[in-house]
Amino acid sequence: MSATPVSMLDHALTRLDEAARHLQIDGDVLEKLRFPRETMQVRLMIRMDDGSRKSFMAWRCRYDDTRGPTKGGIRFHPDATADEVETLAFWMTFKCAVMNLPYGGGKGAIRVDPHALSKAELERLSRAYMQAFSRVVGPDRDIPAPDVYTNAMIMGWMADEYSSIVGATTPAVITGKPIALGGSLGREDATARGGYYLVRRLATELGVKPGARVAIQGFGNAGQHIARLMAGDGYRIVAISDSHGCLHAPDGLDVTALIGAKAQHGSLAAPEAAAAAGSQARLLPAEALIGIDCDILVPAAMEDLIHRDNAGEVKAKLVLELANGPITPEADAMLEKRGVVVLPDILANAGGVTVSYFEWVQNRQGYYWTVEEVHARLKASMETEGLAIWQRARDSRISMRSAAYVHALARLAQAIEAHGTQKFFTA
Ligand code: NAD
Repeated sequence: MSATPVSMLDHALTRLDEAARHLQIDGDVLEKLRFPRETMQVRLMIRMDDGSRKSFMAWRCRYDDTRGPTKGGIRFHPDATADEVETLAFWMTFKCAVMNLPYGGGKGAIRVDPHALSKAELERLSRAYMQAFSRVVGPDRDIPAPDVYTNAMIMGWMADEYSSIVGATTPAVITGKPIALGGSLGREDATARGGYYLVRRLATELGVKPGARVAIQGFGNAGQHIARLMAGDGYRIVAISDSHGCLHAPDGLDVTALIGAKAQHGSLAAPEAAAAAGSQARLLPAEALIGIDCDILVPAAMEDLIHRDNAGEVKAKLVLELANGPITPEADAMLEKRGVVVLPDILANAGGVTVSYFEWVQNRQGYYWTVEEVHARLKASMETEGLAIWQRARDSRISMRSAAYVHALARLAQAIEAHGTQKFFTA
């Protein structure tokens, strides 16, 4: 008899149990956080350009809203599943608590290859998502944002659709919108910038400094901005990959030229991209990035790309997880054993949700901040939470990932316990 496969959420929940061992928390807290509060699944039906109808599976999960309305992105991906959406929503619950944002965690997805749709079909699908989930979302209930293969324009379509449904302009229903439609300055590069501020603040503790060699997996929003910011500080970007290939140059790649080439040709494997990368650059398979000789590895693509079979190849001493869940639990244990420091996703990529929160605040105030204000507030938040987690990790002799979960769980537990626990009701 074959064993029941362990779901991605089951894997993620092992973090909850592990964090709970470091805190005195009531059993109610674990009972509340062990299951998603609600996951809605619908089939979206749209008219295609050729006149036919086509349907797509879609989800929205509100994992936990004890600390505030749920918050989390919507991804368009051909491999999206309910399990993945619930896992990402669980991570968002912890990420918002790590950063002390007044939010719970949520996530959404459509199972679709957006590249196979025309622009008009993409707009119809985005609007269909909002029509289907308008009962679940709302500025005080659940606030989506961009994620993999969704962008500011899609958020703008969705905000417009929601506003039509409720009959009132409601920009605060969604974040990551175009600036002209109520987006925040500084949101575009916020995820990478948050990770960059974190590395800068902890550089001494981590033993890294400009000049160190960086390899970046994924060259979309997170990957391109971290490459630009770190190269600007004097770090040497020795390898960058996308889903098509990996460009490697031990003396450093020309990041600005590569960003231009990726925008123009769509792929790092295009001959024009290799030419833009510099004469020393070599094109390798995408998978080669993990084993590149470097000091800092930045996963900025998809989940589970560092696993049992390739974790042994990692040469870096520091990993900055800009992607969500890029390291499987088994691989994580292998890296920890070898003394590799991992700045975990729920802290390292939290700059995105932090500036999303700033956008929501500005939408509700109807008053907009300068980019300098956004950067200053983001920097302060990343430094405060990053340092607190670093100290917790050092004092308790645990990994940064464990410390981040303990840090978040302490806040979640406080909120859940404030409603009263078994001890309160039976005293
Ligand atoms: P994106 O769609 O802009 O870019 C994804 C990139 O990953 C693309 O360049 C794609 O080619 C590449 N990729 C896909 N599979 C790959 C593979 N096997 N090897 C190498 N590259 C591969 O997405 P993004 O917004 O940059 O998000 C990347 C990660 O960061 C995701 O895990 C996402 O959840 C996380 N994240 C993003 C934000 C944000 O604000 N954009 C916030 C928090 C977390």
